[in-house]
Order: sequence, then C-alpha cells, then structure tokens
Amino acid sequence: MTAIADWTRGGTGIAYQACASCKAAWYFQRGFCPACGNGNPVTRQASGAGTVHARTSVARAPTEELRALAPYLIVLVDADEGFRLMAHGDPALGIGDRVRARFVDLAGKKIPYFERTTR
Ligand SMILES: [Zn+2]
Repeated sequence: MTAIADWTRGGTGIAYQACASCKAAWYFQRGFCPACGNGNPVTRQASGAGTVHARTSVARAPTEELRALAPYLIVLVDADEGFRLMAHGDPALGIGDRVRARFVDLAGKKIPYFERTTR
C-alpha cells in the first residue's frame, strides 16, 4: 500500500476518511463513521479537486503568521470524493467554481490552496 500524503502531517496531499459500511466520507480523522457508527473507517488520498461551496474574505487575521496575508480568502470546498473541507483559496474564486488544491508555504508549513480549474 502506498503512503497517503497528508498536509497536516507534513505531506503535500489531502487525506480523508471513508466508511467501509455506508458511503459516508469526511475530513477530520476519527475512529468511527459519523453517519452509521461503523468502527473501521479507511483513510484515503483525495485528488484535491472539488467545487467551491462557500467563500469568506478574512480582513482581520487571527494569528501573526496570517496577518501578513490579510486580506485573504477562505473557501469551503466540496471535494469530489464527497467530503467537505475549509482551506485558503485564490481571492478571485466564487461559489460553484471548479477548483484544485496546490500546496503553498505558510510559516514553514505546506498548506492546501485552492485555485480555479475549468468552469
Ligand atoms: Zn458509515
């Protein structure tokens, strides 16, 4: 089995979990399925592709590292694999845009950053 790249663990990829019992998929790692309670979720590699569900421009950054970037855009993306995640994105993004994540440096850490692909 190939290793799954997970940016929260220093990799350049997005990992998610899926239920082996029902078809639920979710982002934050947990020990059971939030939909049916199955105790054996599987971790998978996401493609990084999805659709913008919501967007919010942040003018007042919550941390010192982010203050250098402000104003910046946070997007809520519906990943093609069926889970939803929040991440930084191109300020020009709008709801319904097709996007793909690339990885950028933020304070020495690689973070996902969504950019528009095709409409
Ligand atoms: Zn389930």
